[in-house]
This record gives sequence, structure tokens and C-alpha cells, in this order.
Amino acid sequence: MTTRERKPEWLKVKLSTGENYQELKKMMRSKTLHTVCEEARCPNIYECWANRTATFMILGDICTRACRFCAVKTGLPTELDWAEPERVAEAVEQMGVRHAVVTSVARDDLKDGGAAIFAATIKAIRQRNPFTSVEVLIPDFQGNWEALQVVMDAKPDILNHNVETVRRLSDRVRARAKYDRTLELLQRAKEMQPQIPTKSSIMVGVGETNDEVVQTMRDLRAHQVDIVTIGQYLQPTRKHMKIERYYTPEEFASFKEEGLALGFSHVESGPLVRSSYHAHEQVQSAQAN
Ligand code: SF4
Ligand code: SF4
Repeated sequence: MTTRERKPEWLKVKLSTGENYQELKKMMRSKTLHTVCEEARCPNIYECWANRTATFMILGDICTRACRFCAVKTGLPTELDWAEPERVAEAVEQMGVRHAVVTSVARDDLKDGGAAIFAATIKAIRQRNPFTSVEVLIPDFQGNWEALQVVMDAKPDILNHNVETVRRLSDRVRARAKYDRTLELLQRAKEMQPQIPTKSSIMVGVGETNDEVVQTMRDLRAHQVDIVTIGQYLQPTRKHMKIERYYTPEEFASFKEEGLALGFSHVESGPLVRSSYHAHEQVQSAQAN
């Protein structure tokens, strides 16, 4: 289905700004916390927030990069806020989150890319919430493997780093990242802590072919990645990269089948799937494997 056609039915999200949603929005503001749910205009926000699931974005809300698909603001980031890990931990406690996802903007201005704050956030969440699992979705730290080691030493329950797109389109879609650096990071993370499941996401609809998506899954498996998520790209504003094509639910189901056959322990594939969508189920299936 091409984008000249209207947005397909399966992408229309029922809007319900329930009590939980409003309550969480208020709490995020009062703690000056940022969530990807809001910044990236995620279509699942009502469902996730109603279920008290959220992805926290640490290290500010201004990114040093400007990927063509991403709605996060670009510019000069603010100073490091060492009280942020504790505020995230408090929010996790107040929300009663069982699986916390923590991610950040890319902080290429910092020597360690913000790895120390990631580690501090993992520890702070654990201290206040011993039964909550913690997933970190990290930037590439510009290939600073010592920074990666700092995060791995804090032992997240899942180490997530997104490949985003297929090799051929990588430079165009996310200019400052590198396809091979992403694969290397995932491989190294696994070597540093073999027991920690690794995860990556592919966004489809930006001009790739189905075969290239499957090849990307093969590349991830060749670097020992355990979990993959695949979702439809949605243009956040008219200034962002155009959607080339809408994939059908059947095509997403077929990616899932291919992914499971390739040996991933969990494949989440569907039009509205985002990296952190149903993340709690992913940690369970990865642990069972
Ligand atoms: Fe937030 Fe992730 Fe849910 Fe989207 S899928 S609303 S980013 S937790
Ligand atoms: Fe968005 Fe991440 Fe790219 Fe920054 S590095 S523009 S937060 S996708």
C-alpha cells in the first residue's frame, strides 16, 4: 500500500485521555521528567499510560543529532542533571511500573555520551523498586566502548540499541549513526555480559524492501541479538521524512515468523509496535530462553 492512499484503518488509534493519562502527565511535569511517549508523539501513548507504562528520556530533551524521522528537538543540550536518576526512580515508584524503559537523546557533547547517568539511573530505580526490571535503550556513545562497559556493569535487564533501518538507507535516515557501529555495539554488549538479553528495533516504511528487512534481522542475529521489534514509520510532522509505504498487518506477521525462524527469543512486529511496546512481555520471554 503506498502513501498516496489514506492512512489505513489499522493505524487509526482510539483517543482516550483517561484519568491515568492526565495524572501521569501532571506527575511528569511536576518532576520535570521527559518521556519518549510524548516527545516522539508515540501513537500508543493512551494505551501505555493507561496501563502505567512509560519510557523515560534522560539527559534532557534536546538532542545533538537530527535523524530525519525523529520528532525530538535538536540543539545545544542543557547541563547534566545529577538529580535526574533519583527523580526517574521516584516516578517509577509512584507509577508502580514493573518494567521501566530508560532512554536518552544522543549527547555527543559529553565524553562518555551520558553513560554514567544511565548507570546511576539503573541503580536508583533498583534501589527504590527492587522488583522492577529495567531496560535501557542507549545511543551509540560514538563507539566509546568504555562508556558501554559502564552501562553493562550496572546490569540492566535488557540492553536495547536500535538499528532503525536497513543498511542501504542508514546514512540517509540517521546521518550521524553507522549501521556497522550499531551491530558492533550489540555484539560487544553481549560479550561484556552474556546473560543480559540484547534488543534492537527496525522501523519500516522508509523505502526499504521486505528482503532488506529480513537481511537486517539476519545481521542482528549474526551479532547475537535476542529480541527484535518491527513497526511502521509514521511521519511526526510534515517537515520529517516522508512515509514511502504502509505495510499490512499480514506483512508484519510474516516478519514475525521469519524472525522467530532466525532464532530471536522474542519478535514484536506490528503497525503500531515501538521499541518499548509490550516490553514487559519481552523481558519475560528472554528470561525463559
Ligand atoms: Fe511510550 Fe513506548 Fe508506549 Fe510509545 S510504546 S507510549 S514510547 S512506552
Ligand atoms: Fe532522535 Fe535519537 Fe536521532 Fe536524537 S539520536 S534525533 S533522539 S533518533
